[in-house]
Amino acid sequence: MNLYDAHNHLHDEWLAPHRRQIFADMETAQVKRAVVNGTSEADWPEVAQLAREHAIVLPSYGLHPWDVGNRTPAWQENFLGQLDADPRAIVGEIGLDRWILDRARPDDPRLQGLRRAPTAEQLEVFRWQLAVAAERNLPASIHCLDAFGLMLETLQDAQLPSRGFLLHAYSGPVEMIPGFAQLGAYFSFNGGFLEPRKERLREVFAAVPLDRLLAETDAPAMRLPANLEKFPPFATETAALANHPANLGVTYAGLAELRGTDLKTLANRLEENFLRLFKDGP
Ligand SMILES: [Zn+2]
Repeated sequence: MNLYDAHNHLHDEWLAPHRRQIFADMETAQVKRAVVNGTSEADWPEVAQLAREHAIVLPSYGLHPWDVGNRTPAWQENFLGQLDADPRAIVGEIGLDRWILDRARPDDPRLQGLRRAPTAEQLEVFRWQLAVAAERNLPASIHCLDAFGLMLETLQDAQLPSRGFLLHAYSGPVEMIPGFAQLGAYFSFNGGFLEPRKERLREVFAAVPLDRLLAETDAPAMRLPANLEKFPPFATETAALANHPANLGVTYAGLAELRGTDLKTLANRLEENFLRLFKDGP
């Protein structure tokens, strides 16, 4: 059985000290490929480096909405440079996030040092990156928090990659799934959604069309419930613990259960979906 992580950040500094162990554990967990998403100009070279060293890594480049406010004047040139440098390169993580503007605590340690770009500025940067993905027909991995109406409108008005795009860790309303799917959306289920209180999100993922379903860890972010973690989290310099990307197998098992299917059948379907969207050869 081959597992595919549709969205993570393997290059992240929280995971860097444990890399050797992580790649060994991912092999044990039968993870065949992982889309590794850069989020800022500063981390794009690290994604590129990791992709050179490990065939499991599918490199993806984007300016994440949290990082939009700190981009340099050369960001577009730098972005295109990464895409041009590797024929496997794809687009993401890009997106829209109103949570950082409306709901995030001012002292959230993950947001320290970031200028929180207002919605109009996020939109401009998102649209530009999406247009590049559309023009090159590259899959785009999209982050959306508290902005699903605006996201749908934006996608309806935009040129989109004809091969489709990913709404990673989709947390929007179940009613909006058909509208997004019609535009070419895939939806990735995150292991954090196995948290007992996240029942609404499990209901959402029970309704995603089977040919648009994927799974992801978002590691080192979004831990699974501690009692389900097969690979223990890593300590970090902050109080947070880093999600181990080899927990993807647990995510698959939880998704199979909520979809009422066996693991092997689900894994085969997710493999087809992953290879179709991410232009990834065997
Ligand atoms: Zn992410």
